Amino acid sequence: MPAEARTWIPAASAALALSVYGFYVEPSLIAWPLSNHRAPLVLLFAVMALISCLWPVAAPRLGQRVRLTPLVALSAILVLPPALATVPIILASLVFVIVHQEAAVRRQALGQSLLIILTQLTTGSALIQMRLLPVLDQNLPPWTIFAGLVAIVVFGALYTFGLFVQQLLRHRASIGGPGDQMWRVTLSNEFTVYCVGAPFAALQAFLLLRNGGVLGAAAAVGIASLLALVGKFVVERKMLRRQVAAMQKLTESAALGKTPSSTRLVDEFLDRSRGLVLCDRVRIWLYNDGDTLLECVREHPSRHNGSSLGSVRRMGEELVGRVAERKSAMIVPDARRDARHSLYALNERQKSQVGPISQLMVPLVANNETLGVIEFERRQWGAFGNADRERIQCLATLVAMGLSNIRRHQDVVQLAVTDGLTGLYNKRHIMSILQDEIRRAERYGHTLSILMMDLDNFKQYNDTYGHVQGDVMLTQLAKIIQDSIRASDHAGRYGGEEFIVIMPETSKQAARLTADRMRQSIETTPFPGRSRAPETLPASMADCFPETADNWVSKTISIGVANYPSDAQEARLLVGLADDALYQAKRLGRNRVVSANELKQAKHAAA
Ligand code: GH3
Ligand code: MG
Ligand code: MG
Repeated sequence: MPAEARTWIPAASAALALSVYGFYVEPSLIAWPLSNHRAPLVLLFAVMALISCLWPVAAPRLGQRVRLTPLVALSAILVLPPALATVPIILASLVFVIVHQEAAVRRQALGQSLLIILTQLTTGSALIQMRLLPVLDQNLPPWTIFAGLVAIVVFGALYTFGLFVQQLLRHRASIGGPGDQMWRVTLSNEFTVYCVGAPFAALQAFLLLRNGGVLGAAAAVGIASLLALVGKFVVERKMLRRQVAAMQKLTESAALGKTPSSTRLVDEFLDRSRGLVLCDRVRIWLYNDGDTLLECVREHPSRHNGSSLGSVRRMGEELVGRVAERKSAMIVPDARRDARHSLYALNERQKSQVGPISQLMVPLVANNETLGVIEFERRQWGAFGNADRERIQCLATLVAMGLSNIRRHQDVVQLAVTDGLTGLYNKRHIMSILQDEIRRAERYGHTLSILMMDLDNFKQYNDTYGHVQGDVMLTQLAKIIQDSIRASDHAGRYGGEEFIVIMPETSKQAARLTADRMRQSIETTPFPGRSRAPETLPASMADCFPETADNWVSKTISIGVANYPSDAQEARLLVGLADDALYQAKRLGRNRVVSANELKQAKHAAA
């Protein structure tokens, strides 16, 4: 049985016992207009008390927050005169506060109970003032009725002030502090409740005064329900507006603009969801593309020590992993009491130091695929309810669809710019990069070099080992090229077995050196020379088994180098010159590097 249930059973039993005592042992205490209908009312209270006992057992499974004190209070106030109803509430609170081991939970319960006691006492005294409760049976002058009404309004003010202070304390440690948007909304909700509640209290008093008895009370309860509904409607409308605004903003961020960005979308999501759920910390976990690990990509506010940022969870691991696996949201009233959470392993003393931590986790699912999880945390027992979950769920769906679209878009873009066989840039894209780089070099007065390279006697290789084997070789060659250039260089497949490398901010001498290093590296790399290629390429000829060494062949490459701005200032011209240099290298016997200015000098010399 959960600790909460253990503490509430004696509390609720005490309340029940007192009410029965109040009705049957000391009926003279009962002065409530409804006391003529004792039996059904006692039954009602008994049912309430039973629900109160069972609720904590059911609540963690249902993922609901436990609001027990108001339930007992409501049942008590229905059957007992308010002044007397205070007694079971005080007792229930005391039992809870004494029995519960957690200081933080105790404080929470004490705050709530004090609020209710305050409510009871002020209502009670107001009703006594209005002669509805003849506990002080005197002939009070008519102005006391007015005083009673004033007392009820004052009660409303006190009640709202109590809530205000409670919210203030709760939000002090919450995200963003008192300036947080959510804080303002909650406070204005309390104000709405007061605005609705105070006239209701006055009206109830008026009706009871005029009609008395069951009819007056029924009418008052009816009006109260109606007003409560109006209050709820006002609050929900406000939240709905927020939700719509958030969705609108997220849709904009998810739109496939010129540069759709998942980072921007995730940040926007973090920002907006914080405004819809009261919490102390939010984390966003995402699967990296093609990865099986969930990584914490955002944490707000980030913890100084022990930040989760960058930590990973496998599918099904811990609560976050489970939410991702099951694709359904989860509400945890206290992570320390959940065997699936790492905090569960702490001992009771450590758990007590940590204090209660409630969590709400919602998966980001698009097209039946989990992309990540959003996790809210609050240092309070059972802080999240179904309303919070629902509010976040629709944002989560939107964001997941946005992320999925952005990823697909990026895949398509990637496909459009890369060569299918080698994975290098295709001709169209590498030419556009060259134009961009020339423009940049022009603006900043930098130099730039390009290499054009062509495999020597590749036709012969194809003819000997077949085109499939030739394709494998081109892929391996592309990898060698990619590995021998800097991150700021760009490599592309210009044609069949012709490659181009763009080297920004590189002089012709430096480019020539790189080209020669690349030529040597290719010359010394063994390429498969049999009909079936191995999975991986050996690092050098020496790594090959002696008995299979015959199966490896050496290939060479010829390279032409051209430089901006010394050889040419325009992309096509530059490529043309590098190509001329390349064919000069072929003419000179292959497996060599020739630069455009060498070719020019050679031509001059010939002329
Ligand atoms: P050279 O030394 O003069 O360059 O001789 P080469 O045989 O390499 O001559 P060239 O560059 O003209 O030959 C191109 C050959 O490359 C023709 C074709 O068989 C081969 N080739 C072009 N594209 C591909 C490809 O995608 N896959 C394969 N396997 N072979 C290709
Ligand atoms: Mg060739
Ligand atoms: Mg060629």
